[in-house]
Amino acid sequence: MTNKPIPYGKQHITQEDIEAVVQTLQSDFLTQGPAVAAFEEAFAAYVGAKYAVAVANGTAALHLCALALGVNESSRVITTPITFVASANCIRYCGGTVEFADVTPDTALLDLEKVRHLLESKPEGYYSGIIPVDFAGNPVNLEALRQLADAYGLWIIEDACHAPGGYFYDSKGNKQLCGNGNFADLAIFSFHPVKHIATGEGGMITTNDEKLYKKLLQLRTHGITRDPEQMEENHGGWYMEMQELGYNYRIPDMLCALGISQLKRAEAGLAKRKQVAAVYDAAFAGEAGIEILATDTAALATSGETGHAYHLYVIRVQDRKGLYDYLRQHHIFAQVHYIPAHTMPYYRHLGHRKGDYPEAELYYSQCLSLPMYPTLTEEEQAFVIEKVKEFVQHGS
Ligand SMILES: *Cc1c(COP(=O)(O)O)cnc(C)c1O
Repeated sequence: MTNKPIPYGKQHITQEDIEAVVQTLQSDFLTQGPAVAAFEEAFAAYVGAKYAVAVANGTAALHLCALALGVNESSRVITTPITFVASANCIRYCGGTVEFADVTPDTALLDLEKVRHLLESKPEGYYSGIIPVDFAGNPVNLEALRQLADAYGLWIIEDACHAPGGYFYDSKGNKQLCGNGNFADLAIFSFHPVKHIATGEGGMITTNDEKLYKKLLQLRTHGITRDPEQMEENHGGWYMEMQELGYNYRIPDMLCALGISQLKRAEAGLAKRKQVAAVYDAAFAGEAGIEILATDTAALATSGETGHAYHLYVIRVQDRKGLYDYLRQHHIFAQVHYIPAHTMPYYRHLGHRKGDYPEAELYYSQCLSLPMYPTLTEEEQAFVIEKVKEFVQHGS
């Protein structure tokens, strides 16, 4: 049948997107023009947060969050091993210590009971923060996590890279969008091409906290302020002050123009992702040997509607390597998300060991992310399903 390679994820660029970028190329601003603020405003509105700060990429967003929250050599921060390593690395950039907590076997999200256990096992004030990840687009129940964090005086950075447009229901039945800032102090997103909204490189931080917001703006551009109210002196119109050690983590205007254009299709893309997921769900339901990663119950409405944002569609199988290789033979480029962060040589050299987080490691040995993106055609998806079933039922 099809010989065209089918990747696990793929950006979707339209003529409108291209024109939006060309327009900024013809304008007076290549970087830090009007599109930056316009993208921030539109994105904040999309996720329901008060403030948004656009930055160079998702990793820069994480680094700035850690800096804004004062992470330093004495900080200890908890995150999940099932994530892209950047979620943990941001703590290391600031000299802090990364601690992992294991995931639940059904969702591969951070296990709150494991987190609680970790917090209870140490004296008060031992940990300073926690970085949950809306893994695969499955929203973490941040209300429950906030209660735990408050009891121990922790801040929360929500890594929502997989979940723009995702949501869960809180205990009052209210819909809580990922990154809306109602429970987490800060949330971050990435606009890498495999993510929902693509700008090439790009990232966003959202928050409802005005103080953190102002700090992030300053840290994004070298720690410099031009706001007379914040300056210690003022020598005239040219005057600015570098008040702390910041970075150049700005994102150019042309990428923000692309982001604004992409954002207009975000809801349509998300709806398509949910459709693709529903087709996989139906195809694999009751299929011996294929396990579908569960959705956190907080993300499910009684109507059956889901707040899962489906960045990834993950299945678990016994012979994962066999299936991965078999699909590749048929030009289906499924992927593995993720190699547990604590098993990376860098983290092992810091004292983490294989065997420390058995659920994460078991999950890793079985997981495979199938093609999931809005432009995946029905025929392509049917071909993927056929090949997956073929392998699981008969082997190669
Ligand atoms: C993509 C991703 C990042 C990093 O984003 P970049 O824009 O690639 O720097 C961080 N965390 C998670 C969970 C991601 O998926």
